[in-house]
Amino acid sequence: MKFVSYWHDTAPVFSGGAQGPVEGHYDAAIIGAGFTGLAAARQLAKAGAKVAVLEAERVGWGASGRNGGHLNNGLAHSYLSAKAELGKERAIALYRALDDSVDTIEALVAEEGIDCNFRRAGKLKLASKPQHFEAIARNFEALHAEVDPDTELLSAADLKSEIGSPFHGAMLSKKSAMMHMGRYVAGLATAAARHGAVIHENAAVTDRKQAGNRHELTTPRGRISADNVLVATGAYTTPNFSYFRRRIISVGSFIIATRPLSDAEIAATMPGNRTCVTSMNIGNYFRLSPDRRLIFGGRARFSATSDQRSDARSGQILQAGLAGIFPQLAKVEIDYCWGGLVDMTKDRFPRAGYHDGVWYAMGYSGHGAQLSTHLGMILADAMLGREDRNPLKGLEWPSIPGYSGKPWFLPMVGLYYKALDRIQ
Ligand SMILES: Cc1cc2nc3c(=O)[nH]c(=O)nc-3n(C[C@H](O)[C@H](O)[C@H](O)COP(=O)(O)OP(=O)(O)OC[C@H]3O[C@@H](n4cnc5c(N)ncnc54)[C@H](O)[C@@H]3O)c2cc1C
Repeated sequence: MKFVSYWHDTAPVFSGGAQGPVEGHYDAAIIGAGFTGLAAARQLAKAGAKVAVLEAERVGWGASGRNGGHLNNGLAHSYLSAKAELGKERAIALYRALDDSVDTIEALVAEEGIDCNFRRAGKLKLASKPQHFEAIARNFEALHAEVDPDTELLSAADLKSEIGSPFHGAMLSKKSAMMHMGRYVAGLATAAARHGAVIHENAAVTDRKQAGNRHELTTPRGRISADNVLVATGAYTTPNFSYFRRRIISVGSFIIATRPLSDAEIAATMPGNRTCVTSMNIGNYFRLSPDRRLIFGGRARFSATSDQRSDARSGQILQAGLAGIFPQLAKVEIDYCWGGLVDMTKDRFPRAGYHDGVWYAMGYSGHGAQLSTHLGMILADAMLGREDRNPLKGLEWPSIPGYSGKPWFLPMVGLYYKALDRIQ
């Protein structure tokens, strides 16, 4: 078994990074080369702006190269709970932003010719218990009527042609998609560089100074100045960006990938070939890879770390979870096991905007594979003085009391959700 992201292992390595020292003055400096930062850099460079990306590790090293590969057009919340918390208008605007995000990626992939297996697969939200199906059906009724007619409620009998496991029904979101995340992030970086963005890897920003509109960013390989700065560091935000660190809770999420499955195994488990998410609080998400592996993820343990030891322990829990859902695959070989950090906010709504001289977009709470590209482009447009289309504008973002960046409360949260899963 390889302890490396399947997406990293099966994608070309980005080779368009800048060589030499980090220096010069730019219209915009982007911190972080995941989807958010690279999409913003491409948009800025396409418009003729002089832009530099500073990445602590490598292009796509963070969550963008480690995720489940689902491009779902839904929020972390059900539509009904988003509506209760945000009001109908904002909940609809946010839902539509997720819809638009999938369209944005489809258009970008076509425009740049990125070979990343983008496919409108549709997503199944699977009811793990009969009472979960009742909640899914209530949400479906409101969502279908008010926002997304491209949804369908499937009974347990309807699911027989979709999935080889006895779920109690599901909601199908037809607009949802999937793609190869490693190929996309490498393609996005290549496109940004082709349009003129200067991308420095191994260039962690260790200090930021600001005088008026001019920012100075220091890295171990040199220093640049810029008129605009976008912080696109997600769950990997370093302590020197303390405003964000006090608001982002970095939570481990873990994934295993099986060996490629045979036709018979796919027919017995995932004949619908969609992205799938279960309804448990500590649930699972899974899909097939382009080379027919089952990519099976979940929170597994409420851990704030992802390293080989932590990933391996979570991998064992995931393997048991996989066998629970698909007993047919209980003994299948696992070829990959990896993990990454998810950028959660306390209320699980993302945040994007401008604070204290810098732009930011983060807190996607596990639903950022699509929204990050979209928000990166929207913030780039705002920097360019174009129409401000930020769907999150004005959403307050208080810090979390007693939290400075180390999520000491995660084990308690894990126990709470485990208990909820037993009784609900
Ligand atoms: C295991 C897992 C599964 C997921 N599954 C899904 C899914 O199926 N669908 C979905 O929608 N979302 C999913 N997500 C979430 C999604 O991947 C993220 O929301 C999205 O990739 C965030 O992109 P980003 O560019 O904002 O951040 P990232 O991709 O995390 O990039 C941030 C980058 O900033 C760099 N950085 C940090 N600090 C500094 C610094 N000081 N200087 C320079 N660089 C710095 C980091 O090295 C990193 O590369 C998942 C996440 C994980 C971890």
